[in-house]
Amino acid sequence: MSKLAIAIHGGARQDSEFIRNNLNGYKEALREATEISFTLLKRGKPALDAVEAAINYLEDCVLYNAGRGSAINSVGTVEMDASIMDGKDLRCGSVAMLRFVKNPVTLARHILEDSHHILLGGEGAIEYAKHKGVVMEHESYFVVPHQYDLFMKRRDQLSKKEKEELKNHGTVGAIALDSKGNLAAATSTGGTSFNKQGRIGDAAMIGVGCFASNKSCGVCATGDGELNIRSIAAGYVSMLMEEKGMSVQEACDYVIHVKNKNAKGDMGLIAIDPSGNIGMSHNSVLMHRAWMTSDQDFTQKVYEK
Ligand code: ASP
Repeated sequence: MSKLAIAIHGGARQDSEFIRNNLNGYKEALREATEISFTLLKRGKPALDAVEAAINYLEDCVLYNAGRGSAINSVGTVEMDASIMDGKDLRCGSVAMLRFVKNPVTLARHILEDSHHILLGGEGAIEYAKHKGVVMEHESYFVVPHQYDLFMKRRDQLSKKEKEELKNHGTVGAIALDSKGNLAAATSTGGTSFNKQGRIGDAAMIGVGCFASNKSCGVCATGDGELNIRSIAAGYVSMLMEEKGMSVQEACDYVIHVKNKNAKGDMGLIAIDPSGNIGMSHNSVLMHRAWMTSDQDFTQKVYEK
């Protein structure tokens, strides 16, 4: 039986009073998500089930910027991106600009399982969601008080330039290694506050916000989606491991601190290799992250590098 491992992040981001005031809630949710998915792995469930369950839990948590609690865009609506990938056979699915679907990563999983496409967006994705019978919610379900307050404050007080510069991250990502030695990765986000309607971020892009291959690693990226897209963040980590023989930690550090050392924005990565080693790296003030393996108890970090 392979070593079991789960690693979860809740976004690479700047600090805020809201985060400091709600730190226990943020930490409790990551702990719960980690424990839910580790229990599935211990029961012999596949890594795909474990990452989907972790992300579903965080999509339902109002504190994280995914599903309920997503960032509000410049026209006052919520549009979500998510992706999921199976490291065993490279099957993958993703959704972009998604509205009304309670758990975007579950729709991405349906695409992975049943569709010959990989990425569905906008109206077509909603139609697919209805066809698959996934749970839908009214727009008001997704808009929670702290995101609404932030939106109103920014709308009324800030200049266009200031709005563009302000970021509200909190995307979630999960990677698991199951008892059969298979890796899976998944990620889900409401994007960044005040982003333009129709903006699609890295979380919808396989090879950028999410990637998994049993030959290299499972990996999730977070931070400024545009920076992650330019540097093919998740795929680059995998490539450095597969082609250059870097360890999982070396590859994450290289992408964040060498390749992107001059990046003007937040970037973060978490990854697991096929032996269950975990790599994590970020350039932001904080990155919510937690992990647990067959030989390491639950561990969590927020501000520490
Ligand atoms: N990468 C996400 C996006 O740009 C945001 C985040 O990770 O917090 O949509």
